Amino acid sequence: MNLNAPFQIGNFIAGIFQPPVSGKYIDNVNPATGEVYSQTPDSGESDVAEAVIAAKAAFPLWSATPAESRFKILNRIAELIDENLDALALAETNDNGKPLWLSKMVDIPRASSNFRFFATGIMHFSTESHSMEGRAVNYTLRQPIGVVCCISPWNLPLYLFTWKIAPALAAGNCVVAKPSEVTPMTAYLLSIICSEAGLPSGVLNILHGTGPGCGSAIVAHPEIKAISFTGSTRAGKDIASTVAPMFKKVSLELGGKNPNIIFADCDWEKMMRTTLQSSFSNQGQICLCGSRILVEESIYEKFKTEFIARTKKLTVGDPLDEKNRQGAVVSKLHFDKVLGCIELAKEEGGTILTGGNAIKLTGRCTNGLFIEPTIIEGLGPNCRTNMEEIFGPVVTIQPFKTEEEALQLANTSDYGLSATIWTQDVSRANRVAAKVHSGIIWVNCWLLRDLRTPFGGFKNSGVGREGGWDALRFFTEPKNVCIEL
Ligand code: NAD
Repeated sequence: MNLNAPFQIGNFIAGIFQPPVSGKYIDNVNPATGEVYSQTPDSGESDVAEAVIAAKAAFPLWSATPAESRFKILNRIAELIDENLDALALAETNDNGKPLWLSKMVDIPRASSNFRFFATGIMHFSTESHSMEGRAVNYTLRQPIGVVCCISPWNLPLYLFTWKIAPALAAGNCVVAKPSEVTPMTAYLLSIICSEAGLPSGVLNILHGTGPGCGSAIVAHPEIKAISFTGSTRAGKDIASTVAPMFKKVSLELGGKNPNIIFADCDWEKMMRTTLQSSFSNQGQICLCGSRILVEESIYEKFKTEFIARTKKLTVGDPLDEKNRQGAVVSKLHFDKVLGCIELAKEEGGTILTGGNAIKLTGRCTNGLFIEPTIIEGLGPNCRTNMEEIFGPVVTIQPFKTEEEALQLANTSDYGLSATIWTQDVSRANRVAAKVHSGIIWVNCWLLRDLRTPFGGFKNSGVGREGGWDALRFFTEPKNVCIEL
């Protein structure tokens, strides 16, 4: 299979690559080099209309296809992703700036796991029955919805794209999907893989374009009955206001400002190692990163000294060089935003303990977008730096005296996606886990994911849950049938 990234990529509609109706394209930049290395369609309403027609036409056959046949096709997609690991990982890194080793180790393997997980899941999916003690029996049908939409962000491009598409297809829906315009390449390559795996034409349609130009047209299309969205809280609000009066099903996975709560009795070495990862993995561009580090006062100075020392050792550089731990941030827009947040932290009275600057590299990466891993202290919980999502290699540290104070700091946030708790005291771990206002809690670990568990956030971090049966339930309509005996 030829999985080379072409210069101009196409929309995948009815199984065919098509140029955007407008004929317009957006430059696709490699953030590690600054080079425009491809162009992505700038699609709009007309492209969306065509994709919906294709999806609607494919729905009767796909929704009636037995689960075992859907399993075979989706499982074949997973196999082909694995077989093309190197090409997909390189495309992901060139698009996103993340280290190639990370794309190979996490992003692409996780994309195939998503397909494999929901391919097998649909074979085990079952529905409920409610007996009325000899008078009647109720059973629930769970039917595919029809044409659904999946929109994903740039930080974990293929990983999050497939996390939505796989359950939607497994449940028998046809999909109109849009990856981020900032990182479109692996979604394009996935189109090729899906054709090769025998996914019938029109079952999955992949459109490329901006949020306002293409994403909002998909969301507003009256024939699209469910929206699964991962991205910023700002876009989530727009989408919610569009779909609420149209009564569409909606699942929103949004931003985070996650606390990492470190008690003095933690396993020190494991905590230090993991905190380094939860702070700066993927240049801090993971919605689950622990960007607010809360440290018990008695170990605060020790933590600070060692955390700074370890952070300084993180090598930032060419993502293709296996020895670098950190790559480029995703785009010039985001680079400027993150540096602006660091300036704001200084204006708010924060002290930059390490980092705080852009990095100028030489050679291939002279024009790349690199930022030093940055630690800030001296800011209270209510300042913008501690309230707003930065989504870059920037964390703050704050001391706390008591468990109550730790909880208060942790919960001083409009977000509620995830939290990490470090303690060897099992009772305390359970107490704190129950009281933190977040949808995902890790105790003495971070980013340990079981795909069966409910995934999603409280408060401004979203609405609904993904993962496991939650995802298959989202992508089906329950219908109760009552039979009087
Ligand atoms: P974004 O909201 O700008 O874009 C996300 C996607 O939505 C893109 O495909 C974009 O084109 C599209 N889009 C933007 N505006 C739209 C609109 N009005 N209607 C329809 N589509 C629209 O987010 P981003 O900058 O790509 O990603 C970073 C954000 O995603 C961060 O806030 C991060 O926390 C969040 N995120 C959340 C999770 C989670 O699981 N909760 C996971 C990863 C990223």
